[in-house]
Amino acid sequence: MVLSQDLVYEKFSEFYTNYSADIPSPSSIREREFAFLLSKERIMMRHRGFANISELRLFLSEIVPSDVYYSCAYYENPEADMDKKGWLGADLVFDIDADHIPTSCNKTHDEWTCTKCGFSGKGITPETCPVCEGQKFDIKTWPCELCLSSAKEETAKLVDMLENDFGFSEKEIHVFFSGHRGYHVHIENEAIRTLDAMARKEIVDYVSGIGLVISGGEAEGKSKGKSSRPFSLHDFGWNKRLKLGMRDFLSKATKEDLRNAGIRINYDAILQHKEAILKSSMEEGRWDSVKGVSAKTWTKIAEHVKSLQSAKIDTVVTTDIHRLIRLAGTLHGKTGLRKVEFPVKNLKDFDPFKEAVAFKKGHVKVFVSDAPEFKLGGTAFGPYKSQTVELPTAAAVLLICKGRAEVAK
Ligand SMILES: [Zn+2]
Ligand SMILES: [Zn+2]
Repeated sequence: MVLSQDLVYEKFSEFYTNYSADIPSPSSIREREFAFLLSKERIMMRHRGFANISELRLFLSEIVPSDVYYSCAYYENPEADMDKKGWLGADLVFDIDADHIPTSCNKTHDEWTCTKCGFSGKGITPETCPVCEGQKFDIKTWPCELCLSSAKEETAKLVDMLENDFGFSEKEIHVFFSGHRGYHVHIENEAIRTLDAMARKEIVDYVSGIGLVISGGEAEGKSKGKSSRPFSLHDFGWNKRLKLGMRDFLSKATKEDLRNAGIRINYDAILQHKEAILKSSMEEGRWDSVKGVSAKTWTKIAEHVKSLQSAKIDTVVTTDIHRLIRLAGTLHGKTGLRKVEFPVKNLKDFDPFKEAVAFKKGHVKVFVSDAPEFKLGGTAFGPYKSQTVELPTAAAVLLICKGRAEVAK
């Protein structure tokens, strides 16, 4: 065990000594708070400030932290106590993590165990233990390719909203692989800098579709015998997203999909007249032309489409105006991969398991207790079960950091 931790420390140390020039400076570095998770002591060192990036790089090579964070906030005195820092503003940040996305594979590679009572389960970790209501868990997850591509889809939806509904330019939107199981989106722009937590919550609600009321179906109020309101969608913002989303959904829909959308009757009316429905609804904006399909049914489908079109972000991160977030270019202590920025336009083709690899030299012999099949640097590895293998350094460090392997004696 000690041997394995020493190896990880040695590799992180080499990285911060020889490759720290690859760590870009955050903007306004003097106004940022920095924090470090110390590898050996496992404690957080906070409230540090740096005059420039060279000073920070030197510091990293000296303390060799397992994780490096900086504030999305700007402060007058980043080194002061929280209440004396002098908050000047903050970037708008989003965290999209596989932990918050219900993928079909998480049950195969994620496990949690309640530290209080020992009860365990597979898949997404619950907020409280179903047996003892404890809130602390030992969590075993995996940076799985499928999970990361789901996170990427959520990121694409978010970026699309930021560009088209909020009007941020490609230049203002910075997209990063987090180094573990997701993506970060940072927006640096004067207009959002001083937004308070409430205003940021409004943005969160918008991208998540929270509080979005889809009207149609039952008329509101207590109007007796009044006809229901018609269902209609216009061409901007969520209306447009619902419209295009419904087109996608309807054009591919099966009976099963409609059932998942909460439709219990009239499948046939919809499925048989698909083409006509798409034509009248999309081209002519008429949703009332199909016999047997009520405004209430369209509303149900729209609700379902809303959940498909919303971006699954970690809502807490965005509303926290003092948030510490991983510094781009640095290593993730749970993987040995780097947090890396890439151009928004490359999102679709970005391969985190190639672009984020930090350790490119040497091999290490490890005993792997249990690891699924994975790809790193363009090579496929595993699955492994209780076996000794010699792996490229990056793969060995990943398995050790994830608690799946130890250095073989
Ligand atoms: Zn428990
Ligand atoms: Zn997965």
